[in-house]
Amino acid sequence: MNMIRKAACVKMLAADESELALINQYALRPLKAEEVFTFRLAACNNQVDRDFEHFSDAALEGFAKLYPGKSVLLDHAWSSTKQTARIYAANVEAQGEVKQLVLHCYMPRLETNAGVIAAIESGILRECSVGVAVGSAVCDICKTELTTGWCDHRPGKVYDDVLCTVTLDKATDAYEVSFVAVPAQPDAGIIKSKRYGGPEEPADPPEEGDEEKLARAMQDQEEKRYGGF
Ligand SMILES: [Zn+2]
Repeated sequence: MNMIRKAACVKMLAADESELALINQYALRPLKAEEVFTFRLAACNNQVDRDFEHFSDAALEGFAKLYPGKSVLLDHAWSSTKQTARIYAANVEAQGEVKQLVLHCYMPRLETNAGVIAAIESGILRECSVGVAVGSAVCDICKTELTTGWCDHRPGKVYDDVLCTVTLDKATDAYEVSFVAVPAQPDAGIIKSKRYGGPEEPADPPEEGDEEKLARAMQDQEEKRYGGF
């Protein structure tokens, strides 16, 4: 399944001894507290987002296991420093019903990334996007597994007073995290199409039976699969 991108937000974090012990699992030599800059990312949670999707609690726990060791990338505006931060720990924090994946990140305090650290500390760099993949996406109305099938419900539309949403489950991968240069672009980096991996919906749904729809969807899928060669 393709990578899904979701927005994340930076929060400050002081490195105490226990954080430092986790960081030093990834450092080439033991680092002291004054040598590292640490921050936390409030990544995905279990609430319905602007794509009308929500992660299951189990998916968040899965990402927490997959994320440690992954990189935090800077966008082109900052990439001249060639420095990235690293995720050294991840956990799921609960606030009532809301469960949030929190990523703990560190950067060495070097002269070459002083500018980046200052930008994070001052709030200039604060929007991130996280990339993850899941093995299951289920329509919350009819419970269709959208990675292998499709249904007529569209996320964000209301059917008999029920808003259609999609549950993302089964964490399969966690990719790097990227700082977003222009948070004013709400859809930057989001992969919109075909990300559930199931057959594509008909472009202009005509009146036809389910079997015909399925046959045509499968044909479309075949064309997509082989059409580029
Ligand atoms: Zn459905």
